[in-house]
Amino acid sequence: MDNQLNNLILVLNCGSSSIKFAILDPINNIKYLYGIVECLFLSNTYIKWTYLDKKYNKIIGSNMNHRDALNFIIDYVLLKQKNICKKLIGIGHRVVHGGSRIKQSILIDDYVINCIQNATCFAPLHNPANLIGIKTIIEKYSILSHRNVAVFDTSFYQNMPETSFLYAIPYKFYKKYGIRRYGAHGISHNYIAHKTAIILKKSFNSLNIITCHLGNGCSISAICNGVCVDTSMGLTPLEGLVMGTRSGDIDPSIIFFMHKQLHISINEIEKILNQKSGLLGLSEISSDFRYFEKAYDSEIEAKRAVQVFCHRLSKYIASYMSLMENRLDAVVFTGGIGENVSFIRELIFSQLSLLNFKINLTLNRVTIGGKSGLITESASHPVFVIPTDEELAIAQETVHIINKKLL
Ligand code: ADP
Repeated sequence: MDNQLNNLILVLNCGSSSIKFAILDPINNIKYLYGIVECLFLSNTYIKWTYLDKKYNKIIGSNMNHRDALNFIIDYVLLKQKNICKKLIGIGHRVVHGGSRIKQSILIDDYVINCIQNATCFAPLHNPANLIGIKTIIEKYSILSHRNVAVFDTSFYQNMPETSFLYAIPYKFYKKYGIRRYGAHGISHNYIAHKTAIILKKSFNSLNIITCHLGNGCSISAICNGVCVDTSMGLTPLEGLVMGTRSGDIDPSIIFFMHKQLHISINEIEKILNQKSGLLGLSEISSDFRYFEKAYDSEIEAKRAVQVFCHRLSKYIASYMSLMENRLDAVVFTGGIGENVSFIRELIFSQLSLLNFKINLTLNRVTIGGKSGLITESASHPVFVIPTDEELAIAQETVHIINKKLL
């Protein structure tokens, strides 16, 4: 196999409570090794990985933090596969927020690390984890220290018009302090948009679509003539759709009410809105959509949460249609929920029948579990399900930057 291995990229996606990793050949789209550590900071931190189609899993400790988990991944999973590790030409890191100074994917140096650090206030759950990933890998893989690339979720939104990214608060808060909508999940929306252009056989710059990334975090983007013109996440990934544990849009006065009337501290409110709200807060049971899929018909808590989730998403889709210039080429669903939960897609588009959406029930129900395809009747606006692949997108971008700068 050794002589077939070329230009491999290690991708690291250090999330707030999980770490995804993969070694892949982005040119030929071959994933040799991929896995995830889940339940960081919980009693049973575990790892699952697949190497050359063989699956492994293991409990690796209790209350493990990012650094310990990364050391485990590197020492016990990656370095055991010396034949593929020695073919690595670069490392791509997912970074959620680039702040106002970094606009595109970039080779990591001290300046970039500093910018990511400074943008922590905009992604307090994510950027610190991303930085631990970057620093640990640079220490451990010093041989590739000059070939680490940061790929940002915010890059896709750099060309959004001012009308979309400005908040209606005094302008100086944008000018002086950078308070604006930055968006997030851009790596996935961008990847899905390019896939859609290929499926529709259209050039990217004539594409008018609405992309919905529904995972633990959820967001929606409007893309008109190949440019993202609006997105639901804002200054931080807290704004917009109902998510697993995040509230999405709320009246900001709720924060004043909680603080002034209920005497809840600002830190606790931040935690409530980020970690105890969304599907978890509404149901008071779970943030995991597998539960809602099972319990929707039988448990009132599940129905309540799912209906708010769908109501918000339908409203966003309807409003983003107003941003398309005369034509909507497609609405696209992706992410763990978007790709797998067919009854959600049914519910959402049943609320949008007035806008000419009609789901084909058979197509919808079979398009799950990693399948890609059209799920609407021919007279309807097209709705597609397209699985996202953020690791592949990061690896492709990493090769592109390394080739541009180093070779
Ligand atoms: P992340 O944002 O962490 O990348 P994912 O895209 O993996 O998240 O999506 C996680 C969500 O998708 C969870 O709510 C999970 O329950 C749901 N999900 C994933 N696979 C399935 C499935 N087969 N059936 C139902 N829900 C699923």
